[in-house]
Amino acid sequence: MAKVTFFRGEQIPLEMHKVRIVQKLNLPPVEERLRHITEAGNNTFLLQNRDVFMDMLTDSGVNAMSDNQLSAMMQADDSYAGSETFNRLEAKLREIFGMEYFLPAHQGRACENILATAFVKSGDVVPMNFHFTTTKSHITRMGGRVEELVIQEGLNPVSSHPFKGNFDVSRLDALIQEVGPEHIPFVRLEAGTNLIGGQPFSLQNAREVCALCRRYGIKTVLDASLLQDNLYFIKQREAECRDMSIREITLALAELMDIIYFSARKLGFARGGGICIRDEAVCLSLKEYIPLYEGFLTYGGMSVREMEAIAVGLEETMDEDIISQGPIFIEYMVDELVKRGIPVITPAGGLGCHLNAMEFVPHIPQSEYPAGALAAAMYLAGGVRGMERGTLSEQREPDGSERFAEMELLRLAMPRRVFTLSQVKYAIDRIDWLYQNRALIGGLKFVEEPAVLRFFFGRLAPTSPWQEKLAAQFRADFGDSL
Ligand SMILES: *Cc1c(COP(=O)(O)O)cnc(C)c1O
Repeated sequence: MAKVTFFRGEQIPLEMHKVRIVQKLNLPPVEERLRHITEAGNNTFLLQNRDVFMDMLTDSGVNAMSDNQLSAMMQADDSYAGSETFNRLEAKLREIFGMEYFLPAHQGRACENILATAFVKSGDVVPMNFHFTTTKSHITRMGGRVEELVIQEGLNPVSSHPFKGNFDVSRLDALIQEVGPEHIPFVRLEAGTNLIGGQPFSLQNAREVCALCRRYGIKTVLDASLLQDNLYFIKQREAECRDMSIREITLALAELMDIIYFSARKLGFARGGGICIRDEAVCLSLKEYIPLYEGFLTYGGMSVREMEAIAVGLEETMDEDIISQGPIFIEYMVDELVKRGIPVITPAGGLGCHLNAMEFVPHIPQSEYPAGALAAAMYLAGGVRGMERGTLSEQREPDGSERFAEMELLRLAMPRRVFTLSQVKYAIDRIDWLYQNRALIGGLKFVEEPAVLRFFFGRLAPTSPWQEKLAAQFRADFGDSL
């Protein structure tokens, strides 16, 4: 991706690839969108993809593959044990992270399951810059507790801080002294902090966190699922790294860690995951769980084709032109929305564009899920499917009361290499329209509420007939247009 300046001054993102495989999309008219979102229980996870125009639900497993990845997949060595494909992936990981050992797993949460099972004991504390849903579930499942120590600025929706995903190092130090290093199995650093808007940490911050951990003899674990955006931001925003290559930055960061795990549904433009380990003894303590939960040590639940695609995708991740595509598109979208006065998380991060529902629909109380309501409204407005990241994604307290989220976000993920600029412009326009009509958006209430991970399969209903009114307004404003 490049940013190109036109003759008359306009600056736009320019795709540094061409599209060679396409998938036809449908854009159902607004009346049908109303029917679909109602049938989906106002939960965008329950929409059928055939009814979605722009699928911005996630960046997980939906990133476009390259010609080189597809051709590598045809050379996969299909054997249960000792496949050449595994050797190629292991060698690529060794090359970019500089760690000796690699254990394959079928996706990111599988790595978390193994790390939590092996290391977390009841009463333990796992500090991290911010939690991720599956990470937290695995740690609490083992009786551990998550402590979130992101800098205060990380939770400020509107900011110019370049590294909102940074750890608060002095709070980490205080926490270690308070609970004792023996109760901290590892400290987890999440690259491209997912739930606070795809916000990066700096290399300098990682250095300070890891130096502190080393002083106390605590293991450092990097969740590298969203590393590609974080690498790009380090190069763009951290003065000392401006002249380093992405590969050099990757090694400098990896050198600080004891363990790196990742979801290859994000990192590497494919599907799968794995754990890279520096130390042989640590590897041995994890190894036994791979055949138990994942598959044999040379595939870990992944197909060999995907493993070939990951190896090539990791190499592509070292190319700034390739990994800049997401952040540059997202920056364009965020800047255009800010120009229109629409509340979004700033500065633009990786992963996607995050609408701030607390300000977009301030008239909806948190008990009526403002971000969930905005997600349903966004689908109505343009067939655009986003993901609620707010109170709906939290779990109720043990006494049944709501745990109100610190932020109410509608995340519009930007799958990498998937959309064109005209599609992004379309999304911006429909958000703009929705913002002008935000007073019409109302709340949601549960009609079916699962006890765990309710955001995945819970069903909700509008608290008033606001969706019919919003659809009628759309028809009035856009006439015959979709
Ligand atoms: C997606 C994600 C995971 C989990 O990965 P899956 O492959 O979806 O299981 C873990 N950590 C972060 C930061 C993620 O974004």
